[in-house]
Amino acid sequence: MARRAAAVPAAVAGGCLRYAVMEVLGFGRQIEAAARQAMAEGAMGHRRFQAELATASVLVAAEVAFGGPAVGVRGRVDAVVQWGGEAVAVEFKTVDESGFEGICREGPRYAHVAQLATYLEFGPYPRGILVVEARDSRRRVGFALTQDAVFGQWLRQRVAAALEWAASRRLPPREVSVRCQHCDRWPRCFADTAARDQAVAAHPRWEPAPPVPPLWLQRVPAVAGGALGLAREEGVGDGGGSRISGTDGI
Ligand code: SF4
Repeated sequence: MARRAAAVPAAVAGGCLRYAVMEVLGFGRQIEAAARQAMAEGAMGHRRFQAELATASVLVAAEVAFGGPAVGVRGRVDAVVQWGGEAVAVEFKTVDESGFEGICREGPRYAHVAQLATYLEFGPYPRGILVVEARDSRRRVGFALTQDAVFGQWLRQRVAAALEWAASRRLPPREVSVRCQHCDRWPRCFADTAARDQAVAAHPRWEPAPPVPPLWLQRVPAVAGGALGLAREEGVGDGGGSRISGTDGI
């Protein structure tokens, strides 16, 4: 029987299946200097945000690890906070200013939401909040998400498939989309940038099989004011909702 691979990182479980398998198998990444800089700034933003939550006395714990081989997914929740009398998972992301404007206008990015949804499906938190911060202006916006049975089922199928592929030491077919143009493992999928760009032009939409079920999020505008010291009644319901699917917010 094929050896079962360890676990799929939560950050990639809901994305390109081929990428998830590469992650499990430990394939190298080609990270550009700009992306490294953004990651370093994001790490600083995380620490600042967690310190704010602690100051506001809502932080239960930061950097909470969960999952592993027995679960099939592993991850580290940025923060767990007390919110409306309940412990909820918080995922914190930083984006550039134009990205932030786009998120305020059109809703959060699929990859960010999928990561939080993975925590809700595989971790002990049925509710979570995605907080997105603009790197320069430090404006923030939040979205509340509740565990969704249909999305959770889809996610479990994807995780099972990724582990099967990884256990066989083979890669699944490409899932070509515009995401390939900023994927840090694209050289594993295309001979060169011309081949990549041509494939993306021919198939820009991500179309995993089965398709990604939509998720609904509720805007939590009060988060933009600073730490997460808000009552649920203040936040949820007064900012409108967002429907998100796998092709949104790329
Ligand atoms: S280049 Fe595209 S198909 Fe290949 S791993 Fe990245 S996102 Fe997936």
